[in-house]
Amino acid sequence: MLDTKMLIGSKFVDGTEAPEAVINPKTEEAVVTLAEASSEQVDEAVNAAVEAFTSWSRTTPAERSGLLLKLADAVDREAEAFATLEALNCGKPRLRVLEDEMPAVADCFRFFAGAVRNMHGPLTGEYMAGFTSMIRRDPVGVVGSIAPWNYPLMMAAWKLAPALAGGNTIVIKPSEQTPLTTLKLAKIIADIFPEGVVNVITGRGATTGNALINHPKVAMVSLTGSIDTGRKVLQAASATLKRTHLELGGKAPVIVFDDAEIGAVVAGIKAFGYYNAGQDCTAACRIYAGKKIYDNLVADLSSAVKELKYNLSNDDENEIGPLISSKQKGRVEGFVERAASQSHISIAAGGKSPGGKGFFFEPTVIAGALQDDEIVQKEVFGPVVSVTRFDDIDQAVTWANDSDYGLASSVWTSDLAKGMATAARLQYGCTWVNTHFMLVNEMPHGGLKSSGYGKDLSMYALEDYTVARHVMVKL
Ligand code: NAD
Repeated sequence: MLDTKMLIGSKFVDGTEAPEAVINPKTEEAVVTLAEASSEQVDEAVNAAVEAFTSWSRTTPAERSGLLLKLADAVDREAEAFATLEALNCGKPRLRVLEDEMPAVADCFRFFAGAVRNMHGPLTGEYMAGFTSMIRRDPVGVVGSIAPWNYPLMMAAWKLAPALAGGNTIVIKPSEQTPLTTLKLAKIIADIFPEGVVNVITGRGATTGNALINHPKVAMVSLTGSIDTGRKVLQAASATLKRTHLELGGKAPVIVFDDAEIGAVVAGIKAFGYYNAGQDCTAACRIYAGKKIYDNLVADLSSAVKELKYNLSNDDENEIGPLISSKQKGRVEGFVERAASQSHISIAAGGKSPGGKGFFFEPTVIAGALQDDEIVQKEVFGPVVSVTRFDDIDQAVTWANDSDYGLASSVWTSDLAKGMATAARLQYGCTWVNTHFMLVNEMPHGGLKSSGYGKDLSMYALEDYTVARHVMVKL
């Protein structure tokens, strides 16, 4: 049975406002219809979090750690059910969720359970004669978390784990398109955590989300989503000077030097450019290929991409799923059509929707793209990779950095020194050398420029969700 109720304090309740259908993107049919939270319900959720903060913020790291470990164990126990639900709501191949996402979700809770017991800082000491100074790291308060639809449960984990570890209480709103796994998680959380520590509300951004980000008692807003929504969060934050933590997408450059091992590059882009149908802010989507490797790369990548499996009746064979919605499919189609209409561009693979049921789009390779083209500059968030030829390192680095975004990047070469030197020049939160897309809970994930700021994962996230305080004692 589906968990459809929101969690406010200790109560499971339905929203009281407009109903919103949750669509299965593979069948285009409604899975369930959920009423969204009213601004009064958002207020109740925030008040429940405010009330819970007093005692939760005073728990020891060991106590919080113990509960996060219990949550991780419960996620492991329910991994099959979560994977089924995420596949139903997002259209993702179920096996990919089970094998790729679920272990990462559980590990995220485990990492922060350990991290909070092992925080470091400057030494306590007499930095002024006769006074002892020490540093504390205390929680921020109530965190309003807004999650996207591309990895619903994993994004919930990325937001909940460091915030809970740090001693904050939370009101989280999943995307109105993909609330189901977060609602299931709420049921588990309510059995483990004290009342009000985590509250889950559902609804659209413009209504429920807007009420949450503008709530005066929310001390920090954490968003993963679009740049437009990021701007709205900043405007709302200015009223009460809330802290903000923004992850707003990307357009990852992939620099392929002539000396790169072409088989590895093709396998890498096939895997990391199209994973989750390209609905990934780190997707390897903007390829810059050296002039000698360019032709072979376009040819080999196009053949490889045509082999990607999707929409097969045996879901275990599928590598990618559909796009999340008809709107997102239309958006991707628009980008590809506008690119295809330019005479210097050729569509080397895919290029259209395969038709039939489901918001599928063919894995697409766009060859001959130029630096100023929309397809090179704008985030498509679909299974679409562009390839651009470059002349020398300086041009490749300049073009890679010439982007509004600054989240992820990669460099492919058999000369590791060249790889390292190039990585040092890239203005991105992450640069991979001879790989792409790999995330570990110990290392930070987050961007520069319009990709936002604030880190997910790692000790840096725990720092973002806590405040450094100085306590000084007169001796
Ligand atoms: P979005 O920013 O509209 O939605 C993300 C979340 O923000 C959802 O939970 C949504 O309800 C909420 N939201 C929207 N407007 C809000 C508001 N005014 N106040 C508070 N919350 C609000 O993103 P989208 O429309 O789902 O996707 C559009 C584009 O955003 C995508 O095509 C992609 O480029 C980008 N995106 C990026 C990521 C990422 O991982 N960084 C994830 C999803 C989408």
